[in-house]
Amino acid sequence: MKKENTEVRYDIVSNEWIIISPKRGARPNNFQEARDCPFCDLKDQEKPKFYFYKGKESNGKKWTTVVIPNKYPVFNLENKNKKIKDGVYSKIIGKGHHDLIITKEHDKFLSQLEDTRSEEVFTCIQKLINSYKDNNFVKQVAIFHNKGEKSGASQPHPHYQVMTLPIIEREFKTELESFNKFYKKNKKCLYCEINKRELKEKERIVLENEHFIAFCPFAPKVGFQVVISPKRHNPNFEKITEEEKKSLSKIFKKMLYKYDNILKEKNYNFFIHTAPLNKEYPYFHWYMVFYPRSSSLGGLEMGFRIEISQAMPEEQAKILREGK
Ligand SMILES: [Zn+2]
Ligand SMILES: [Zn+2]
Repeated sequence: MKKENTEVRYDIVSNEWIIISPKRGARPNNFQEARDCPFCDLKDQEKPKFYFYKGKESNGKKWTTVVIPNKYPVFNLENKNKKIKDGVYSKIIGKGHHDLIITKEHDKFLSQLEDTRSEEVFTCIQKLINSYKDNNFVKQVAIFHNKGEKSGASQPHPHYQVMTLPIIEREFKTELESFNKFYKKNKKCLYCEINKRELKEKERIVLENEHFIAFCPFAPKVGFQVVISPKRHNPNFEKITEEEKKSLSKIFKKMLYKYDNILKEKNYNFFIHTAPLNKEYPYFHWYMVFYPRSSSLGGLEMGFRIEISQAMPEEQAKILREGK
């Protein structure tokens, strides 16, 4: 069988990059078929990159968190990064990393485990980003988690994905431009200003601790969307301090608990937006965002990218803030 590469094709009409990864179709879906879990027993997986046990790196004899290269990667390291332009069409045959962070327990999410376990996952993300830094084919790093089948997950066993992209995708590019424009005009960081405004108004705040705030954004893309934003200006997630990581784990776990127990939301995604690695982006401010996936997209959302949320974020923040 011909080995099919992932292609990143450029849609010249909408000015965006689309990833086509035929090999991804081969990955098993354990939501649809009951098979042995590939993450409970790692024997058929790629060789682990590193392990953690009780907060410290371990040799793997005992572990609570493990990092392995994805067996069905979107991009791989064998490809040469090449850009091909042919008239109105252009594409990139991409090279990249695609790693999985797996927590030991098959049926326990980070919301049900001690805070230190979330800390381990954040440390793994930090370590991975730092390990990608010297690779000139890496532009953006995508960090995400899919919870529940409707969120795009193919395995119920909790895992977190860290993937490098040979491009900066359109939405993120627009975001970087907004931060840059705001900085040039006001000599201030956009998210530092948003933090200040949210802390002053308080009505969209869900949680706050020493280093972070969690709030429902003023203009959400989906209902009950929540952003966790660091109080300290810092473009790069991998530069968080140990103290911030402890604080982040606490607010993150409380947020997961709220989704699980107040909303009883079974399907959601979360992402970490962090500055790309191809150069410095001093005007950017990293943050984390949660998207519940209980509603499906309609024509207006799909065709015109106009989001309709069914309730005011101020009311949704109150439900999340006050719910137990
Ligand atoms: Zn499992
Ligand atoms: Zn900032």
